[in-house]
Amino acid sequence: MMINILTLFPEMFEPVLGGSILGRARKKGILDINLINIRDFSLDKHKKADDYPFGGGAGMVLLAEPVFRAMESIKAQGKKALFMSPRGQVLNHQKIKELANEEELILLCGHYEGVDERILDYWNMEEVSIGDYVLTGGELPTMVLIDAVARLIPDVLAGEESAEEESIYSGLLEYPQYTKPREYRGLEVPEVLFNGNHKLIALWKFEQSLILTKEKRPDLFEKYIKSEKEFTKEEQKIVQRIVKNGE
Ligand code: SAM
Repeated sequence: MMINILTLFPEMFEPVLGGSILGRARKKGILDINLINIRDFSLDKHKKADDYPFGGGAGMVLLAEPVFRAMESIKAQGKKALFMSPRGQVLNHQKIKELANEEELILLCGHYEGVDERILDYWNMEEVSIGDYVLTGGELPTMVLIDAVARLIPDVLAGEESAEEESIYSGLLEYPQYTKPREYRGLEVPEVLFNGNHKLIALWKFEQSLILTKEKRPDLFEKYIKSEKEFTKEEQKIVQRIVKNGE
């Protein structure tokens, strides 16, 4: 997948997109990141890329011209373009899955007060938010989006990092995880994880996921219970017990 990032602060990205799983995906050529410094497309002799808003108001607004020219440089017409913005729909797993199916994305990062609205209109940009709070710029939201999208692209995660059991993906939150030592400062790991019975362990994980989801995200729990999932007999019993007991 090719991801074009339009930003005034390209230097913010390399530490995040250059390391770990994303860095590896880039080296393997699965993920191609094209960082575009909007300032490079300014025609102003001081490389100015923003100005005061018409009608007054605090803060600076990103100029249409350097963004239009940057978009033209990547032949953006007709391509999927997003503007990171607190006005947008809040991202969720469904949206991330949709984006992961695109071959190319364009992500515009706002800064200061925002951007000239004509950029969004002309380039048909969809506004997306990472939550109902306001950040100083669109760079961190862009990195959040790229990280979430990239891990759904085939072969980005290595086998041992498989995404199937992650919280949210399955419709439930993930069960508790433990590692060595078996006992730490008197704190024990649940006995069931050592009995070697994989079926029992899988049922315990399922039960723990249900309990946690019901407690922490009752909205997801309701949705999961109402979905037409096919349960085994043992799973069905667990579901009924947890629904009834309010465990
Ligand atoms: N004046 C804008 C408004 O009220 O909608 C907020 C501007 S904000 C200070 C600067 C930039 O940060 C925005 O243009 C956007 O790119 C980014 N940003 C801030 N909060 C965000 C969020 N929750 N999700 C996505 N991007 C965000």
